[in-house]
Amino acid sequence: MSDIRQRRRRSRRNIKRIRQRNRRVLLSVGLLCFIVWAGFVNVSKQKKEQEAEQAYAEQQEKKAREAKEVKAGKEEKDEPVLAAESEKNKWYLKLVNAKNPMIQTDVPEVETETLDSEGYQVDARIMKDLEAMFEAARADGRSPMICSAFRAWDTQVSLYQNKIGRVMNEEGLNEEDAAIKAATVVAKPGTSEHQIGLALDIVSSEYTNLDEGQMETEDQKWLMENSWKYGFILRYPLDKSDITGVIFEPWHYRYVGKKAAKEITEQNLTLEEYLGEEPVGDPTENIK
Ligand SMILES: [Zn+2]
Repeated sequence: MSDIRQRRRRSRRNIKRIRQRNRRVLLSVGLLCFIVWAGFVNVSKQKKEQEAEQAYAEQQEKKAREAKEVKAGKEEKDEPVLAAESEKNKWYLKLVNAKNPMIQTDVPEVETETLDSEGYQVDARIMKDLEAMFEAARADGRSPMICSAFRAWDTQVSLYQNKIGRVMNEEGLNEEDAAIKAATVVAKPGTSEHQIGLALDIVSSEYTNLDEGQMETEDQKWLMENSWKYGFILRYPLDKSDITGVIFEPWHYRYVGKKAAKEITEQNLTLEEYLGEEPVGDPTENIK
């Protein structure tokens, strides 16, 4: 009997020990699970935070990029390409107008070359491009004609004086008022581009009047479309008189070089605008 009791006691102790051990094991496993779970939660939380941060940064970057693109687009639209500072003092971009007149001694010494049998002269440096333009026009079946080119100081003085005289006679104005009116048609000496050998008046051989009818001629249409390719611009365009200070002259072409001619024509600018200079003002404003 005592044997049996002893065995039972032993077995109860064993069972107790086993239970205690199982409890410890369970506890340890539980603890381990908790640690692993907590770690996992923490890592995934960090990961989520990182992802959110990254998404935010990407969003900000995208916004900045879009804003930049919009600004660039605007600049392209609003801000024209103007003459580079390094170009502004080049001989072919010389600005001569009523706000930037030359006195007689300012007029650059121009080496001129005679163009044709009529004896018209231009700055020798534009000769090659001018000839190429006329050649191309003829090849296209056009026949434009030069009717004025380089003018020496004295020539411009007599043209201007003659015009004043005619206005006084025809309209009964005094000399001062006649001079203002004359200057809208014939540039006052020192303000004409013809004096620097870079300007030409070109008319159609089918219509030689210096008036707005020129722009209807095929020759003039050809020049307006193609002259920029050879470095020339129509210098006093329609609706730009308040900037150029000269009435619309669909015959007066000015050499500005090929790069400037292309940029000016493409952007519908005047030389004043291209050089960032002040507008001259409407030439007819002070007429009485
Ligand atoms: Zn002219």
